[in-house]
Amino acid sequence: MNYTEEILNRAREGAPPDFDEALHLYTHAGDGELMEAAHAIRMELNPTMEVGWIIDRNVNITNVCVSFCKFCNFCRKSVDEDAYVTTLDQYREKIEQLFRLGGRQLLLQGGLHPKLGLDFYTELFSRLKAEYPELRLHALGPPEIAHIARLEKADYQTVLTKLIDAGLDSLPGAGAEILVDRVRKIVSPGKCSAEEWLEVMRVAHRMDLPTSATMMFGHVETIEERLEHMIRLRQLQSEKPAESRGFLNFVAWPFMDEGTVLRNRLGIRNTVDSRTYIRTIALARIILNNIPAIQASWLTVGKTIGQLCLHAGANDFGSVMIEEHVVSAAGANHTFDAKGIQQAIREAGFIPRQRNQLFEWVD
Ligand code: SF4
Repeated sequence: MNYTEEILNRAREGAPPDFDEALHLYTHAGDGELMEAAHAIRMELNPTMEVGWIIDRNVNITNVCVSFCKFCNFCRKSVDEDAYVTTLDQYREKIEQLFRLGGRQLLLQGGLHPKLGLDFYTELFSRLKAEYPELRLHALGPPEIAHIARLEKADYQTVLTKLIDAGLDSLPGAGAEILVDRVRKIVSPGKCSAEEWLEVMRVAHRMDLPTSATMMFGHVETIEERLEHMIRLRQLQSEKPAESRGFLNFVAWPFMDEGTVLRNRLGIRNTVDSRTYIRTIALARIILNNIPAIQASWLTVGKTIGQLCLHAGANDFGSVMIEEHVVSAAGANHTFDAKGIQQAIREAGFIPRQRNQLFEWVD
């Protein structure tokens, strides 16, 4: 048995690779053996051919942001003509459309607005929940929590407690990009540090607020930094209290470069080809053995690559995004309706199951 097989066999038995072993897999494992091992681990953790999908709606709270990440075409200064803060009437219209389409979850994200503090968000969440009690709010993310905490001079626990009391149901893993400060200083210097991102999640997990983990890759990071990112996520998940749900899933998507400062000013292009994406998903399944679901980002890589990822450890196909403005502003333009997403899962040989944001079946 060679060293690659040894590492993969240990991973199948529940002992995931350390950093050096993960690097060995990245550089030496064949595509087939990586996908096969990832699929075996996926079947061990989720022992049916069921693949989750969800109907949700991405609504941006505001496009005003002080961060100006170099991969973001979405943010504006508050004085810009097209700067906005979404109004209650706009939320109502979008929520009613979401409900008509059978969805119950809003993914609420936005920029780091210099003036919107905790009161704004608690009032917004409680108002929406009062009007639509069935609505689930998967909202904000560690950079916003860190930003609000700074504005309010409060700690993360205080901010999260008030947001949960107002109606926050789960916290997306937005703004992780790569959790290594060398990378963050280049691509998103205005955002929270890697340790701050992890600390917000640590606090959320202690409070049993369900969260998700993400990775945006293929820009200025090295292979080692991608692996370090995944290993930091695994480490954090291993620290959560046993009864806490922690990270429910992991989703990785390639840097969408169109029109970004990274591409236009620094000449940095998306380096993720289809093979790299599938191998990354397989590696994620092998490394992140304590995160239950791995999601293929069809929105950014398209249907076929998404389907192949279902044979490389992914067991979730993500959402029928009714509205998405951040990655689509940088070149991601694949779409699915509810029928299409189920058809794509079936074509790949799996059974589609509609889920909610807590990964419970709702079909
Ligand atoms: S990615 Fe988010 S935090 Fe960064 S500039 Fe865009 S809106 Fe702001």
